[in-house]
Amino acid sequence: MDFKLTEKQQQFREEVRDFLKAEMARGIYPFGSIHLAGALSREFSKEVSRKGWIGLAWPKEHGGQGLGYTDRIIMLEEMFRVAAPMAYHYMGDRQVGPGLIHFGSDFLKREFLPKILNADACFALLFSEPEAGSDLANCKTTAVEEGDHFIINGQKIWTSGGHYAECGWVLARTNFDPSISKYNSFSEIIVDMKSPGVTIRPIINIVGAHSFNEVFFDNVKVGKGYLVGKKDNGFRQIMTNLDYERAGIDRLMQNYRVKEVLLEYVKTNKRNGRPLSGDTLIRDTVAKIEVEYEVARLFVYYVASLLDQGKIPSFEAAMGKTICTLFEAKLADVATTLMGLPGLLMPGSPEALFDGVVCESYLWSPSYTLQGGTVEVLKNIIAQRGLKIGGK
Ligand SMILES: Cc1cc2nc3c(=O)[nH]c(=O)nc-3n(C[C@H](O)[C@H](O)[C@H](O)COP(=O)(O)OP(=O)(O)OC[C@H]3O[C@@H](n4cnc5c(N)ncnc54)[C@H](O)[C@@H]3O)c2cc1C
Repeated sequence: MDFKLTEKQQQFREEVRDFLKAEMARGIYPFGSIHLAGALSREFSKEVSRKGWIGLAWPKEHGGQGLGYTDRIIMLEEMFRVAAPMAYHYMGDRQVGPGLIHFGSDFLKREFLPKILNADACFALLFSEPEAGSDLANCKTTAVEEGDHFIINGQKIWTSGGHYAECGWVLARTNFDPSISKYNSFSEIIVDMKSPGVTIRPIINIVGAHSFNEVFFDNVKVGKGYLVGKKDNGFRQIMTNLDYERAGIDRLMQNYRVKEVLLEYVKTNKRNGRPLSGDTLIRDTVAKIEVEYEVARLFVYYVASLLDQGKIPSFEAAMGKTICTLFEAKLADVATTLMGLPGLLMPGSPEALFDGVVCESYLWSPSYTLQGGTVEVLKNIIAQRGLKIGGK
């Protein structure tokens, strides 16, 4: 077992750091948002594209760099460390591109892979519905065949980036035979978010941010060429896509700034005239945070190494996401507890510590263990697929 990165990978990390330093110095992009959805800049995505870093791990024959998932994690770790504004290309690069490479027709590959690689198309994922989140097979949105088209009707919810994405990756029911398992009744279809009949309504979350939406489909007409993979196979395809989402480093790194400011706070502040750093309980608490962070980080690299070996790390990805999301929720909790009342002030408040990043992270924290599959559902996956208990 060798935990070291290769010399080339270390050089690559330096190259990414230098690039980010230069981009930050230009002062034109919105670096620093702890939530991806608050960090959108198509121009920045264009710069990343020029470097060839969108589709870094995609095969060369599909326009990618043919590098490994470990290389991609190195790049993302550096991007998240400075909260780079990646939202425009993020879903396309992480999930949609690999999904199309696996399942898409030649037409869809030709149509969308170059657009993702060149930061010319932003994707939103439209899976969840009011009655279907963990249990996606309960989706009610329908796509009925009519000649060369599907006619889509229904409602999606929690659609991150739905208000700025040009393209939607939609899960809809396409088989209505009650004798067929519902797991074989759904398809994935790419929809132009500007199509007639698509209505997008903002949902403002507890932080006051507009990151996700409700999306309504009212007789939306989509050509059959936009069906991804096989008809009625969408459920299985989505489960593979979700493994890519769960295998990422985003859940560990999105709150990196909170970890930084927590350490800074402990190093530079006093309570009752005594330095916080002299308090053994506080030292114990921040040391535990550091241990959990490093363990989670190593696990994320391990999952990337499985992908590099051509394996689909379904329960390992679930384990990684579980460790990372529980860590980031704990980090927000520990930071707000240690910083006391000033740590609870929102960004923009004159007395807020560190621009209110800790409070912001705390308010986001209920969502950490929900998005991309809840931690309870992930534990079921770990038990069933990993430990072979309780499954069918
Ligand atoms: C910030 C954020 C961004 C999101 N972005 C998107 C997006 O872009 N596109 C999209 O489609 N969706 C998105 N979602 C939705 C997300 O995927 C769902 O919230 C998630 O899948 C859970 O579904 P639900 O909210 O309906 O909760 P439910 O499925 O109703 O779950 C409620 C509770 O019951 C528990 N539970 C459910 N089933 C089980 C079980 N079998 N065993 C044990 N416990 C269980 C859950 O863990 C949870 O605690 C986003 C969510 C958040 C918070």
